[in-house]
Amino acid sequence: MNPDFLYAIRTCPALDPAVRDDFPMTGIQSHGKPFAYLNNAATTLKPLPVLEAMDRYYREYGSPIHRGADRIAHKATTAFESVRRTVARFLGTPHPEAVVFTGGTTAGLNLVCLSYGELVVGAGDEVVVTPNEHHANYVPWQQLCRRKNAKLVLAPLDANGCLQPEALESVMTERTRIVACSHITNVMGAAMDLRALAAVVHRHGAVIVVDGAQGVVHERPDVVGWDIDFYAFSGHKLYGPTGVGVLYGRPALLEKMPPVVMGGEMIDIVDVYETSFREPPWRFEAGTLPVAEVIGLGAAIDYVLELGYCGMQKKVLGLTERAVRGLSGLENVHVYNPENAFSGVLSFNIRGVHPHDASSVYDREGIALRAGHHCSQPTMRWLGVGATLRASFAIYNDDSEVDRLIEASKKAGDFLDVLF
Ligand code: PLP
Repeated sequence: MNPDFLYAIRTCPALDPAVRDDFPMTGIQSHGKPFAYLNNAATTLKPLPVLEAMDRYYREYGSPIHRGADRIAHKATTAFESVRRTVARFLGTPHPEAVVFTGGTTAGLNLVCLSYGELVVGAGDEVVVTPNEHHANYVPWQQLCRRKNAKLVLAPLDANGCLQPEALESVMTERTRIVACSHITNVMGAAMDLRALAAVVHRHGAVIVVDGAQGVVHERPDVVGWDIDFYAFSGHKLYGPTGVGVLYGRPALLEKMPPVVMGGEMIDIVDVYETSFREPPWRFEAGTLPVAEVIGLGAAIDYVLELGYCGMQKKVLGLTERAVRGLSGLENVHVYNPENAFSGVLSFNIRGVHPHDASSVYDREGIALRAGHHCSQPTMRWLGVGATLRASFAIYNDDSEVDRLIEASKKAGDFLDVLF
């Protein structure tokens, strides 16, 4: 991570600690202890403005969008489409029609693969991925390459799990059609310089597909400024609802792409043996969309923009650095990514204790974190382990929760002593 960038984060004003009160779930108990939710890379808790926006839709104007001629349905459609404009502004594009609503990151990445990938990748072509991708940004490309008799190429990563532009350059060829990588990875928390990577990709005439599931939470995307072709993210990791996500696509590319899912609202004319399709983004939004969730996503984006990314980054960085210091100080704990505190993800293991066993100790202490391969078996292979523990931090966490994580890690380290 660029030291100037980290300096800018450290010097920005701190978030008001009262932010925690915006999240009702921070007040619950688990096993009779205050619930410490440290599984934020899996999903985040939801603030009141998101809950209220969704509740208001269902109570006051819960009508179909694009499918009703009455005033209330018009209100629902207007609210829904205004979120498209909010998302476009958020992502840094002047084109709302470049924003496709999806079910989440997985759905968005699969859409790019099954539509654009099927279109441009042929036998002998190459698709570049990294060995630290989430399965959602790995398996679709792997399977596409198998179907097309194309080659899946793994770009080398540095010791922190970061894809450096020179390393990407070293695997690009005239057959490279697509490069798929994360904005921030979900196990190592490695943050990519997307602008530099996109420049490499475009020099070789390929397109860059970005998995923004983790990145969107910690760094505001700038799809036009960074020259990104596709960027997918999920609402639920950004303090928004589950079941909704976004795929940004460069308008000229979306124009060329065929639809993958067919049904209502994505068609123009359906003749007996032929159908013409609507323009993007509607061509990719068949069927009834999750209206309340889209409205909730709009509220989540308004919420984070109101707080400001700088304050959020400062908070998460401070918590993660505290956790790195505390855990690295424990004799039997190995932290895999101490250099990547910016992304709020900390992967570690306790020597001699399986992560699944350890996670039951944390649970007893009222702490939620994740144990396993984190939907990235390629990363586990890259690390040379079967599984890790993963603590991940968000804006409502506080120092006392980090300290409880460290104390519980000491206890989990004694797990073998308890057993035998
Ligand atoms: N990509 C990354 C990096 C993730 O962390 C996740 C979720 O954990 C996903 C993709 C999949 O997101 P979703 O399950 O919301 O589609």
